[in-house]
Amino acid sequence: MNIDPILQRYSVIREKNPREIVLLRGSGCRWRRCRFCDYHTDFSKDSAENYRLNHSVLAQVTGKYHALEVINSGSFTDLDEATISLLKQTCFEKEISRLHFECHWMHRQSIPYCKEDFASLGICVKIKMGVETFHTLFRESYLDKGMGDASAQEIARYADEVCLLQGIPGQTVESMRHDIETGLEYFERVCINIMQKNSRPILPDPAVVSLFMQELYPKYRENPRVDILLQNTDFGVGGAADAQ
Ligand code: SF4
Repeated sequence: MNIDPILQRYSVIREKNPREIVLLRGSGCRWRRCRFCDYHTDFSKDSAENYRLNHSVLAQVTGKYHALEVINSGSFTDLDEATISLLKQTCFEKEISRLHFECHWMHRQSIPYCKEDFASLGICVKIKMGVETFHTLFRESYLDKGMGDASAQEIARYADEVCLLQGIPGQTVESMRHDIETGLEYFERVCINIMQKNSRPILPDPAVVSLFMQELYPKYRENPRVDILLQNTDFGVGGAADAQ
C-alpha cells in the first residue's frame, strides 16, 4: 500500500462535457498487471478508512453541472458498499443525474446491475473503460491489458466511453488515428492519455509523442467528444493538493 493522503481528489472540468470529478479510494485494482500503470498503488484494504476518506472527498461535490465522474485507480467494483450508498445519497442531494464510473473488462458482468441500480434512482451511469488500443495483439502481448481479443463491437456492449494510451513505442500516426476513429465510431466519448514515465516498464516514446502533437492533437483538440490528457493530472486530480 502506498497512499499519499494529500493527493488532490476533487476537481471541476469546465470545458467539454462539464462535470465534477473525484478520485476516490477503493480496495485496489484486481488486475494490476498493465505494464504501463502504477496508479493502482492508491488503495487500502481497510474499507472503513476508505469510506472516511471518500466521505471527505464527496463532501466537496456541489452538483453544479449535474454530472460527476468517479475514478478510483481501478474499477467501481473496488469501492466499498458504504461509499456506493454515499454516492447515491450525494447524487440525490446534489441533483446529479449522470455518473461516470471506470471499469476493467474483467468486471463487465457487474455493469448491467450497476446501471439498473442507479437508473432506479434516476441516475444514468456511464462506464469508461481503459482499452488503450484496439490492436488486440499489441494490447495483450505488450501492454498486458487483460482483455483477450475483445473487439470494439464487443467492448461497446458494456462501455460507453474508452481511454486510449498514446505516445508509446511501436505506435504510428496511422495506428493512433485508427484507434481514435474506432473509439469515436463505437463509443460516446474518447479519452486519450499521453504516456507519462512512471515506475513501470513501458516508457513514453518522445518521437511518437511528437508525432501525436504535430499530426493528431490539432485535429482532435477541439472535438467535444475527445478529452486529451497531455499530463495525467490534467483533469485536476491525482497531483499534490494545494495547501488548504
Ligand atoms: S490501467 Fe487500470 S486495469 Fe490496468 S493495472 Fe492500472 S488500474 Fe489496473
